[in-house]
Amino acid sequence: MAPNGSGRVVFRREPRVARLHDPRKGFSLSDVESEIRYDPLTGESSRICHFALPAAAPSDISAIAEARRPGCPFCPGKVDTITPRFPEELVPGGRFRRGEAVVFPNLFPYDELSAVLVPASRHDLAMGDVPESLVVSGVATARDFLAATLPRMAGDLFGIVTWNHMPPAGGTQLHPHMQVVATSEPGNAIRRELAAESAWLEAHGRPFAPDLLAAEEAAGRVVGRTGGWTWYVPFAPTGVLGDCRAVLPGKSSVLELDDGDVADLAAGLRRALRGFAANGLWSFNLTFVPDRSSDRSGRHALSARLLPRLYIDPVLHTPDANYLHMLLGERFSMAWPEEVAERLRKAFSEP
Ligand SMILES: [Zn+2]
Repeated sequence: MAPNGSGRVVFRREPRVARLHDPRKGFSLSDVESEIRYDPLTGESSRICHFALPAAAPSDISAIAEARRPGCPFCPGKVDTITPRFPEELVPGGRFRRGEAVVFPNLFPYDELSAVLVPASRHDLAMGDVPESLVVSGVATARDFLAATLPRMAGDLFGIVTWNHMPPAGGTQLHPHMQVVATSEPGNAIRRELAAESAWLEAHGRPFAPDLLAAEEAAGRVVGRTGGWTWYVPFAPTGVLGDCRAVLPGKSSVLELDDGDVADLAAGLRRALRGFAANGLWSFNLTFVPDRSSDRSGRHALSARLLPRLYIDPVLHTPDANYLHMLLGERFSMAWPEEVAERLRKAFSEP
């Protein structure tokens, strides 16, 4: 199929058809469609294979959360007494606080500065019921923590802020918590994207994000706007049952967010989470994708990426990542991004 897109942004797709004698149709010869899509920035491929699988929460997750409450290290009382402390020269007092939120070192650090952020005392939180105040608390605290610590560290660093919610997303505690990492090595995905954005800026004389958002809008995958953030469902999907992104042109790191940006992000995230939760999803990864805090090239727009996670089989705990993701670096979705966008647009149209 010919590429399509808007302006310089190209949405390349390759439909595929598999033929098989389908036992569900009396072994008649049947065509099964799938599609390969290519990320318009990096050229990396995703596969869309349109199976219909429900994403059902285990019925006892609230009971499990309640059973874990007495031993939860992030609940009030425990978080102030049993979590690790930073050295005084990095964080006076050992733990960084902002309102109800508290930041302390990860016992299993990913880098020199690797922190856990507990945004609120609330222990049990359903994905479709995340209050904006909790998101504001978490993101503003991450911003202020990075602003306080990065100047005390050597090197040209990225401030990475992420959130794994519930076990399918890799969450080992049910109590809502985020991660904040300061690193010179942000990982393969960010490195590849920044290199591609530098190349785009050089080739076109303008950053990629505004062109991308215009093209996604023309393609019908923009689902809403909250302040300066534009929310869209990417052409080349990441999530098995869909994903979405928010982009804030003009800012490139979490450090640059003002309180209005944080509130606007929270307003959109609540809607997006509710939209996915309406389809039975209950777990997610969220990450900000920043540039180096020192970068002033204008190549990058800060984005927040929301990836619902699930057990393909909730009884067997079959994960939604398999050899494709883990060994071949290939993303795979069972949902057409255009249909995901239609559903999320409804969530954004509600208060
Ligand atoms: Zn707790």
